[in-house]
Amino acid sequence: MLLNDHIAVITGAASPRGIGRATAELFLEHGATVAVLDRDREALEATCRELGERAHAYVCDVTDWESVQGAIESVVARLGVPHTLVNNAGITQPKGLLEIEEGDFDAVMAVNLKGAFFCSKALMPHLTRAGRGSIVNMSSVSAERGGGIFGGPHYSAAKSGMLGLMRALARNHAADGIRVNAVAPGFIETDITAGKLTEAQHRQIRESIPMQRTGRPLDVARICLFLASELSEYVTGEVIDVNGGMHID
Ligand code: NAD
Repeated sequence: MLLNDHIAVITGAASPRGIGRATAELFLEHGATVAVLDRDREALEATCRELGERAHAYVCDVTDWESVQGAIESVVARLGVPHTLVNNAGITQPKGLLEIEEGDFDAVMAVNLKGAFFCSKALMPHLTRAGRGSIVNMSSVSAERGGGIFGGPHYSAAKSGMLGLMRALARNHAADGIRVNAVAPGFIETDITAGKLTEAQHRQIRESIPMQRTGRPLDVARICLFLASELSEYVTGEVIDVNGGMHID
């Protein structure tokens, strides 16, 4: 049990086959209390029912400052000051530069990058007062190699922005006892891509990955567990790749 007496906030954790949901499950297994923030009320309530009594549902749109601030203040009032924030909520669009309209760009930036900024900003005063905390930004291999498999350039830009935000917060808040890191998953089997690839495209992806398999949400959740727990207490400003060798620096 790595997270006894631990309170975690995980955004975008309502999707039944998602990375956030797998992370919530693993954190719960390790003793944590988990606040799940998601804009999808129905999925959120179903998820928290399934996860059990230590999972708490907060309807929240991470692109809306008032919604984020309200959710974080409710979490603090009800559960206490969280130890960990996983900025996981994200959307992607498989579009090329010329297909991306301004609204597409704004939407992808808003959920991925502005959402991480808003959640970190809302929680930071509490973490600073507590003198401890861990923030994990869910980036992507797409940020590192100029495109993953699915996201367009606006997604790569947003996920790269999450790395810049992570590094700045890590540097600025290390002395407050707050660690900030990122995870960069490769191709993970979730609903973000489900049904959007043909079997032939899927096989081609598998064969292009050195480990010859796509990733599972649990592969990513385990890295979030490491970054939330004391196992990583001297780690900050770091990006951990979870991609089966798809991108090697
Ligand atoms: P998913 O689509 O299964 O889950 C995303 C969740 O985010 C959903 O529950 C959705 O309701 C929520 N969400 C979307 N917009 C929101 C908003 N404005 N406010 C609050 N919640 C919102 O996706 P996933 O594959 O589990 O992805 C999780 C994260 O991992 C994302 O940030 C994604 O970009 C990143 N990622 C995924 C992969 C992959 O291959 N699956 C690879 C690299 C990075």
